[in-house]
Parts: sequence; structure tokens; C-alpha cells
Amino acid sequence: MFNRSRRNLALWFTLSMGGILVLFAGVIYHLEVKDKLQALDRLLYKRAELMAASLQYRLYQGQKQVDLSNIPLLGSGSHPADIELVYVRWYDPNGKLKRFFGTPPPERLKTTPGFSTIKSVDELTNKAFWLRQVTLPVEGGNSVIGYLQVAIPLAETQNELREFQLMLTLAVPVALGLIGLTGWVLGGIAMQPVKEAYNQLQRFTSDASHELRSPLSAILTNAQVGLLMATDRPQLHPTLENIIDSTKSMSTLVNNLLLLARHQGKLTSESLKKVNLNNLLEDLALHYTTVAAKASIELIGHFPKEPFNLWADPDLLRQAVENLLDNACKYTPSGGTVWLRLESHPDRAVIQVIDTGIGIPEADLPYIFDRFYRVDTERARESGGFGLGLAIVQQIVQAHGGQIQVTSNEGKGSTFQIKLPPLDNNFSPQRVSKRVTI
Ligand code: ADP
Repeated sequence: MFNRSRRNLALWFTLSMGGILVLFAGVIYHLEVKDKLQALDRLLYKRAELMAASLQYRLYQGQKQVDLSNIPLLGSGSHPADIELVYVRWYDPNGKLKRFFGTPPPERLKTTPGFSTIKSVDELTNKAFWLRQVTLPVEGGNSVIGYLQVAIPLAETQNELREFQLMLTLAVPVALGLIGLTGWVLGGIAMQPVKEAYNQLQRFTSDASHELRSPLSAILTNAQVGLLMATDRPQLHPTLENIIDSTKSMSTLVNNLLLLARHQGKLTSESLKKVNLNNLLEDLALHYTTVAAKASIELIGHFPKEPFNLWADPDLLRQAVENLLDNACKYTPSGGTVWLRLESHPDRAVIQVIDTGIGIPEADLPYIFDRFYRVDTERARESGGFGLGLAIVQQIVQAHGGQIQVTSNEGKGSTFQIKLPPLDNNFSPQRVSKRVTI
């Protein structure tokens, strides 16, 4: 129970922190892309500005004549060493191509001034690649004398971003693992006070039930003695019989509470013995044949020939099956049938208690193993149960590493099925106290 809560706490912690981490990584990546692109744009703009500065123009017959001869790559100017340019283009103020270097451009200027990212295809290798391009309007006097268009490849920036992405992809799972570990440790610390409070409650229930047993048996004995001594005062009989019945019922409740509190979760290796399940169940079947016959119910036992052995606390296991048989006899009308069956499989034993009784409504099935749950108080009052019998069965079965299931049809009957692991199926006394948690 505590481990499951601790696991859930760690899981939710990892999921929430992981979500924040992934979001954070996404934002960082986005900022890095923006930053890299801005740096590239600054470099590209500076280069285009320098190139534009080498341009000269003069007025000839009222017209501005542009001299491109000093512009690197377009004229005789040297190629800039710090940057690889894919192309340089010059368009006149009307957007008509005048001169270019690099990839053949369209005859007319298509893009508006500013930065843009362009997909291009290498003519030699036929491979697509990405470019960052700037289109700079160049002014002479107070009017535009043309447009300088310069582009550089994005490959290097893309490679750097890919490396950054890879680093994030590796770092995020490692961080998630660390978060999970931290969640597990924090979950353990958070569960500690809950565990202590729970153990304290268990101890209190166990001590209180234990302390109540002596006064209850004293009341019972005194009431029984009183009844024997009051043979000549019949008017006292109903009162004394009432006291005896109530005390017996209270003793049952106290014993059940004690059983639940004492065997919570673990079975000590000293309490475990090698048990022959066939013998244990055959004994029970023999005893309950007489009990059932008193209520005009037929009890049929069905056991395989080959013995099924397991590590178990025989008293607890007997108690679990007894509770199921008690219920089957209690909730089956006279003339009905109860079966106690054992099926042995290589990896498990299956004990079935089947009855043709009143059955359990479907809506109640998920709750019948809860403590103090009774299907309806009316029939429970008649049968005198407290709603602890099935909770005890479940606790015992789980403490043995098994499972319990129920199927029922209202008015037709119920089938309770216990699955238990065999002797050699990773379940030995040494491992029991480590494995079982309820
Ligand atoms: P109780 O001691 O009240 O019988 P249990 O925990 O043993 O408590 O059972 C819980 C409820 O499940 C009971 O109130 C009863 O109505 C129902 N129940 C258990 N076993 C059977 C059965 N074999 N047939 C019909 N109802 C059952």
C-alpha cells in the first residue's frame, strides 16, 4: 500500500517536473534558434552594407549612373575572406537585374527588402539546401539607386543547432531519470509520517482488541454461570441470553479486528510451513459437510489426486477458506449446494468456493472486500455478520502472494476463487516478508 503510494507520488512528481523540463528545453531551443539567426543576420547585413559602401554613382544628363566595379564579386573588389557568399546580385531601382555573381537569378527582383530564408537546389548535386538572404535598398542622394541582394548558406548554423538539439535530447532523459530518483526519495520521506501514523493505528487496534478479550470472556463466563444459577428464575433468562449472544458477537468482532491488525502485510518466516493444500481442504470439507447438512445444504468436495504443496500459515489459510464456506452456507437457502474445489496447475493452485445461494448484486461486487462492508444491512443483521469476513480472506490471500476474485449472479449463486503460488514459485519463507505489502 505504502509502496504503491510512494510509486504514484514519484510518478506524478516525474511527470509534472518532466513536463516543465520539456517545456523549458523547448523554450531554450527556440531562443537559441532566434539568437543564432540574429547573429547571422547581423553578419550578413554588415557584409552587405560594406559592399554597398564600395559602390559609386554619378549624375549623367540628370540620370544617376551606378559604378559597380569596386563591389567585391560583382566588380573587381576582392572576395571577403570572413564569409562564404552564395550569390551577390544588383537590381536597378525598377527591380531589373543588372549584374550578378553565383547562382543565376530571376530577371526581376521578387522579394521585398529585408531578410528571408530560402530553399535552393544545388545544380551539380541536385541537393536542396537553405540560404539566408538580405535584400538591401541602396540610396544615393535621397532616392533609391538600386537593390543589393546577398545570400549566405545556413548549413553551418543548422549544424550547430542540430548539435544543440542532440545535446538537449540526451540531457532531458538524464534529467528525467534524476527527477524520477529524487521523486522516489522525496516520496519515501513524505510517506514516512503516514506510515508511522498507520502503524500506530494498527498497534492501537491490535492492543485494544487484545485488552478487550479478557473482560469479554469474563462477561461471557459470568453470564453463562448466571444462567445456570437462575434455573428457578425464568424471568431472568431472556436478559442473560441476550448478554451471552451480544458478548459472543462482540468477541467475534474483537477477534476479527485482532486478526486484521496482527497479520497486516507481512507473514513472518516462523509462521510459514510446508502445507499440503489437498489435506487442508479435505479436512475442511469433512467438517463443513456436517455444518451444511444442518441447514439442509449439500456440500461437495472436489480435489485432484496429485498433492499441491505451498509455503503458508496453515491456520490463516484455513481461516480464509472457512470464512468463504461460512458465507456460502449462510447465504445459501436450504436445498442448495456448495462446492469446495481445488484445481492444481504447475504455476498455481486455484481454490473455488461455489454456492447456489442468493448471490451478490453487481453494484456491490467491487466493495465486498472492504472492511465493514455489507451488501445490505437487513440480510447482514439476519446473518449476524460484521462485514469483516471477506476483508480477512483478502488480507490472508494477499499475504500469501495470492489473489482473490469473485463472480456472482443475483438469485443464482456466487463463486469465490483464490489463486495461490506453489512451493517453488519464487515464494519461500525468506522472501515472504520482503515481498508482501498490503
Ligand atoms: P459478513 O460477515 O457480513 O458476511 P463478509 O465480509 O464475509 O461479511 O461479506 C460481506 C458481504 O458480502 C456480506 O454482507 C454478504 O452480503 C455478501 N456475501 C459474502 N459472501 C456471500 C455469498 N457467498 N453469497 C451472497 N452474499 C455474500
